[in-house]
Amino acid sequence: MTRYLIGIIISLVALTFVRAVWGIIQKALVDEVKSAVGGDAPSPAAKPVPGADTTLRRCVTCGTYKPESAMLRYGAGDKSRYFCSADCEKKVNS
Ligand SMILES: [Zn+2]
Repeated sequence: MTRYLIGIIISLVALTFVRAVWGIIQKALVDEVKSAVGGDAPSPAAKPVPGADTTLRRCVTCGTYKPESAMLRYGAGDKSRYFCSADCEKKVNS
């Protein structure tokens, strides 16, 4: 009878242990998926706001991509040139 009780207790302990480990594995998997998708805080470039000016323009000096509204613009139409900062503009014009 005592052996029977010990067997039940061992089974319960083992079951609890397995469930705890399985919970850790599931949590790790969820975190893995979250980080692969991009997490809870995606960058503005990856998730454009509808209606906002999010057309990405490339800085002709350093190649940085930024929304058009954040760029310094020179020229018009097809001849437009964009700079990410005044420093990049100076580098081109100097
Ligand atoms: Zn630049």
